[in-house]
Amino acid sequence: MMTTEIKAFWQNYINGEFVDGGAGRLDVDNPGTGEKLAEQALADARDVDTAVAAARACHESNVLFDMRPVERGRIVRKIGDYLLDHVHEIAPVLTLESGKPLWEARKEIEGAARYFEYYGNQAETLEGRSIPLGAGYFDFTTYEPYGVSGQIIPWNFPLEMTARGIAAALATANTCVVKTPEIDPLSLYYFCKAAEYAGLPPGALNILCGEGTVAGAALSSHSDVNQIVFTGSVPTGVAIASAAAKNVVPCVLELGGKSAAIVHDDADIDNFIKNVRMGIFFNAGQVCSAMSRAIVHQSVNDEVVERLVDVAQNLSVGPGIERTEFGPNMGAMVSEKQCDRAEKICAAAEREGAKAATGGRKMNQPGYFLEPTIMTSVTQDMEIANEEVFGPVISVINFIDDDEAIRLSNATSYGLVGGVFTRDLDRATKVAREMRAGQIFVNEWYGGGVETPFGGYGKSGYGREKGREALMNYVQTKNVAIKLSDR
Ligand code: NAD
Repeated sequence: MMTTEIKAFWQNYINGEFVDGGAGRLDVDNPGTGEKLAEQALADARDVDTAVAAARACHESNVLFDMRPVERGRIVRKIGDYLLDHVHEIAPVLTLESGKPLWEARKEIEGAARYFEYYGNQAETLEGRSIPLGAGYFDFTTYEPYGVSGQIIPWNFPLEMTARGIAAALATANTCVVKTPEIDPLSLYYFCKAAEYAGLPPGALNILCGEGTVAGAALSSHSDVNQIVFTGSVPTGVAIASAAAKNVVPCVLELGGKSAAIVHDDADIDNFIKNVRMGIFFNAGQVCSAMSRAIVHQSVNDEVVERLVDVAQNLSVGPGIERTEFGPNMGAMVSEKQCDRAEKICAAAEREGAKAATGGRKMNQPGYFLEPTIMTSVTQDMEIANEEVFGPVISVINFIDDDEAIRLSNATSYGLVGGVFTRDLDRATKVAREMRAGQIFVNEWYGGGVETPFGGYGKSGYGREKGREALMNYVQTKNVAIKLSDR
């Protein structure tokens, strides 16, 4: 096995200083081996207070807001430049703490950098408007930052999720307090180094790790936080939004999904199979917008299932650090708990009558690996068709007519993304219109990018990340009406 030495202890970052945590230290494991990897400083509620106070002071100094936006944008872009310049240093850390293959870690870092490029470029484009009020008035609107943005980060893409929120927040002159995930917080350290490199003023970006129910709860209920961004599970989203509501603080919630790809009888099956590779096995399926259900026309079911099994069985599964290049490979799940949970959902599905065409079990090797799994004979009333497995598991559900396919795809409480594979443009546009989801993929799962808005319908949350839309989460509109003299 390849070994990579990393630092034994990683600190939090408050007001431009690296600091220990009031709650001591937390062990971070390597999911590829199950062994301890390093220790992380663990923040308590007082550390959260200190970080919020630093962010508040920086906000009230107006140092970011007073800057010409192009200058602020350049600082934001430089954070991304630093990440790209250090990709080979950061990627092994991210791989070792999260379990993902090294090439996926590099891809995540590049994705994180892209947010800083995109929102850095947007900083000088946010313009108000002038509203005619007749003679004697000049009226205009401006966009102002909320102030302190509290951001609570999930473990599946710690770097990209953090970049997504803080790039837009900083570009619009907010200051940030980021609560990192307990499972894989280490690589967030490089954002602090990047902030220093870019010349971000102290207090503008504070990054600390702490328990969700301690530091996360302290941040989401803090009376000096002005806006909250959260990605993660529905129950935690509800807890955070409830705490924020007590302070009348707006939230952006991105709470996962149970997204479906409809595969029509006229679909290009080669193309669909190619998309499954990334759709469900990327990051071992721990993706909120994963293709976790394939709603397949009965007439092509046998061919599709056979080819899905082939993809799953030909993946080389093992420690991410040894999987350096894109190819048919997959890493570990992030933790034993997540791996056990996914296995349990598969076992329950089999008891309910589904069949594991391949996979469904934990692998007999050190680390937290679940076999790439194709579950067939799934019906929409089963738990596996409604609950996020958050693992490398795709459920195949059959349909006979187009309306049934749409009905099945809309039958969960989520609505994050959805897809349709067909050569018929009329069918595709009908599905795009009728699917209840915030983002629709036609013939390419994950079509779009940082430029395109992303966010859910239903229990998948509210607000939009990415794209121009996301900027509006971070600003409040001010209207200025000027009464001119009658001279
Ligand atoms: P979680 O939602 O509990 O944790 C996500 C983040 O919220 C972490 O940083 C955690 O510390 C924090 N948190 C937890 N409780 C909190 C509280 N009361 N107040 C404030 N912050 C709090 O998710 P999890 O337990 O790590 O995973 C459970 C399930 O959530 C997964 O199986 C998966 O289905 C889902 N999930 C979804 C996403 C996504 O991208 N949509 C990401 C991670 C997890």
